[in-house]
Amino acid sequence: MQTSRRHFLGFVAATSALGIAGFPSLAFAARKHTLMPLGYDESALQPVISGKTIGFHYGKHHLGYLNNMNRLLEAKPALEDLSLAAITQHAWEQQDMALFNNAAQVWNHDFYWQSMTPKAGTTPSASLHDAIKDSFGDMKTLRDAFHQQAMQQFASGWAWLVRGADGRLAVTRTPNAQTPMTEKGVTPLLTIDVWEHAYYLDYQNRRADYVDAVLDKILNWDFASANFEKA
Ligand code: MN
Repeated sequence: MQTSRRHFLGFVAATSALGIAGFPSLAFAARKHTLMPLGYDESALQPVISGKTIGFHYGKHHLGYLNNMNRLLEAKPALEDLSLAAITQHAWEQQDMALFNNAAQVWNHDFYWQSMTPKAGTTPSASLHDAIKDSFGDMKTLRDAFHQQAMQQFASGWAWLVRGADGRLAVTRTPNAQTPMTEKGVTPLLTIDVWEHAYYLDYQNRRADYVDAVLDKILNWDFASANFEKA
């Protein structure tokens, strides 16, 4: 017992002194990223989005992307200490699409859950409201343009309200996992997930009804305002 313990401590000391991987399971123990808390009950966005949809969307789809990302990161110790945002940026720059698709989907979903709120009547801050007036004219024009982007995204993807590199607000859309957070100088303010898994249980093929309900009833203007102030 005594001998084997001394032997073990000696081994650890030796690997520490070398500072390298004599003991791969310790040296390369990748930091596991964890699922962001939802911030509200799974049924809190009803009737716009059912608890059943969020149960699958957050508990299965989002978690699946997170688990895939953690598994891929085990083979990439250089990325161990990076934030989720930095991993997403890095994977996009390297066009490491397996890692990008999963990391970006984790980032996008974190952003999506915060883009919606059960709190009624959130409104843009004064400065965000001024920017909306400058860029779109009024809220109704922004709302309709956002809706159009969500409808024009063919197949899976995302619709976004962003502050562009020129400082003006814009609505845009991205396919699959792609995300404006990888674009230099662009700050996402809000997003709507338009993958079918986001709405099919509640709305089947009626994406327009899902987008209308999100835009008009649960969009989180407190979150948009906070993102705008940080930009
Ligand atoms: Mn989704």
